[in-house]
Parts: sequence; C-alpha cells; structure tokens
Amino acid sequence: MELAQLTTLKLGGPASSFVEVYEEAELVEQAADAALVLAGGSNVVIADAGVDGNVVRIATRGVERDGTTLTVAAGEDWDALVERCVEEGLQGFECLSGIPGSVGATPIQNVGAYGQEVADTVRAVKVLDRASGRVHELPADACGFGYRDSAFKRAPDRHVVLGVTFALRPDGAPTLRYRELAEALAGVARPTLAEVRAAVLALRRKKSMVIVDGDPNRRSVGSFFMNPIVTAAQADGVAARAVALGAIARPDEMPRWPTGDGAVKLSAAWLIERAGIHKGQRHGAAGVSTAHALALVHLGGGSTAELLELAHQVGDAVHAQFGMTLLPEPTMIGCAWGPS
Ligand SMILES: Cc1cc2nc3c(=O)[nH]c(=O)nc-3n(C[C@H](O)[C@H](O)[C@H](O)COP(=O)(O)OP(=O)(O)OC[C@H]3O[C@@H](n4cnc5c(N)ncnc54)[C@H](O)[C@@H]3O)c2cc1C
Repeated sequence: MELAQLTTLKLGGPASSFVEVYEEAELVEQAADAALVLAGGSNVVIADAGVDGNVVRIATRGVERDGTTLTVAAGEDWDALVERCVEEGLQGFECLSGIPGSVGATPIQNVGAYGQEVADTVRAVKVLDRASGRVHELPADACGFGYRDSAFKRAPDRHVVLGVTFALRPDGAPTLRYRELAEALAGVARPTLAEVRAAVLALRRKKSMVIVDGDPNRRSVGSFFMNPIVTAAQADGVAARAVALGAIARPDEMPRWPTGDGAVKLSAAWLIERAGIHKGQRHGAAGVSTAHALALVHLGGGSTAELLELAHQVGDAVHAQFGMTLLPEPTMIGCAWGPS
C-alpha cells in the first residue's frame, strides 16, 4: 500500500504491511504491535522510504448520545460529527468546523481553532495502553492537554485512542473568543451555532484551510509549524529584532497573545513572512501556500524530501532573523527533523 494515497499531503512511501480495521476489538489486536496507526492522514509527514512494519488504518464507527454527552469511535469523521452537533444544537465544537481527520486523533494534539480546542469538551478518552495491553478510560485531567499538545503526543507509541467521550452544552451561546471570527459575525446580533460554523468555514476557505477539490493548496497538513510559546522577555527580544529589521516601527505592532500562565504565544505565520518567506514561494514541487504562510503544500509529483527541504528553509529563515526555532505541528514518520 502506497501511504501517499492515505495522506492529505499525498506524500509518503509504501507500507510493508497494511490493514484497515472497522471493529474496536480488531483495532486492539492489530494496534498492539503496529509500526504506525493512521486515521485521516491529515497530520502526518511520512518519509519517501515509507514504513517498514504494519500500518493500521482506523476506520471504526459509532456515535452514542446520552443527553449532551457523546461517546464516539476513533475512526468517525471529525467534521461530520461537528456538523451533526451544530444541527442538534449542541454547543462546544462549532469553532472547530472544517478540520479534516478523525475523532480519535483530536485528543492527540488537542485540536484547536478559532478560540476552541477539544480539551474544552473532552470528558474521557478510551485507550489501549500498549505498554500494559490494558484497555481503559483516562479522564480529561489525565490527558495532559496543552497548546497542540497532550500526554498522547508526548509519548507517541504508548496509547491508541479507541474512542472519545465529549460533554457538550445544550442551546449554549457559541464561543466568540477569537477576534477574526467575532469580527466576521459583527453584524449578527446573536449568532447561532450554524452561523458560527458557516463563518468559520468561510474564513477557513479563504486560507485554504479546508480541503477543496481543485484548490492548488489542497495538499497540506494545515499549519506546518506551531505558534511559538515563549517567555515575555523572549517575546520582547523578538519584537526588538523586528523593529531593528524594519519589519515594524514599534514593538507593540508585533502580534502576541498572553497564554494566561505568564507565557506569550507568537504568530508563526507573521514571523515567517517577516523573515522574507512569501506566500506562493516554491521549492520544486513543494510550496508555501498562496493563501497562508503557515501551510506548506505539495503541488503534485513531488517528494517528502522536497517538502522537508522547504520546511527547513522556512525554519532557518525565521531562526536567522528572530532567533526563534519553529517546531513542526504534524507527526514526522521516518523523517529526521532538526536544525538543517
Ligand atoms: C487543511 C487542514 C486544516 C487543518 N486545520 C487544523 C486546525 O485548525 N487545528 C488543528 O488542530 N489541526 C488542524 N489540522 C491538522 C489535522 O487535521 C488534525 O490534527 C487532525 O486531528 C488529524 O486527524 P487524522 O485522523 O487525520 O490523524 P492522522 O494524520 O491520521 O494522525 C495524526 C497523528 O495522530 C496519531 N493518531 C491518529 N489517530 C490515532 C488514534 N486513534 N490513537 C492514537 N494515535 C492516533 C497518528 O499515529 C499520527 O501520529 C488541519 C489539517 C489540514 C490538512
């Protein structure tokens, strides 16, 4: 099986062995010694050499609703779940509209966008612990959620997510924390969940952050880099360098958001563009999305090696100008990532 067929980047070499699983019991059996578990393939960069070992594709199904609590199988499609919840008046997912991939992958990097993240609604995660072979439930506070991070991501080979239980709110007011989203809905007195979903999808379309046939930016993993989280002093240092470079006139022109614990989140896209990388910039069959500087895209007929060369060019430019190291958001499979 060519893994490129199963990734949104349309990159990745062959798997020496491959199985797709539809039942939880089969997933438990197959995942125990799998080389890789894969679901929607929207957050992985797989080496051109492929994977030597068994790749297990999760295609389990099932959604159980008990009031406002949903227990969902790992292989369910995330955006179909979001759409259903919005239609049924369940609040908590509306800002997470349009994100590709599976439900089971959402706790891995604590999927988030437009002011929401799944940590806000996850109540428990049912896992196979590959260290002990035990299937059990982890309550949300044992999942170690952080910005695009979790205990699962920090120990990538340990747990396989079998299902997720979410607690949503009935008829709740939508989350309008994110400025760009609030501005898009400024003319709407009391936006419904459906209006918020539509606004999020429209914003995402403009940035090629939904997968649309024919869009030249469609082969990506969404954001390639995470927004750096730094100390306030480091943020001041980056702003001072941006002023010195002539990128901004005053330090307060640099976008920065307090994370609530004294740290500061910077905009990776802003740093990339100020480091001289431009939207649409190409390296062979890899490119910076024409719609968003944070997305690296495969233009077709290329290789993972080319994409990673471009990623290093971007990372090196930001490091040279601002002294900041950008970390990739997707999981690297068989690809070495580090300073080039
Ligand atoms: C256009 C686009 C836009 C995106 N926008 C966003 C966004 O706004 N916010 C955001 O957070 N992400 C975004 N992403 C990234 C991605 O969609 C999410 O991270 C998604 O949750 C990945 O799901 P998946 O099923 O495709 O995971 P995969 O790519 O199949 O897997 C990702 C990683 O999780 C592991 N994994 C998957 N399922 C399981 C499981 N059941 N148990 C254990 N490990 C598992 C895999 O081994 C791999 O390491 C975007 C991607 C694209 C292409």
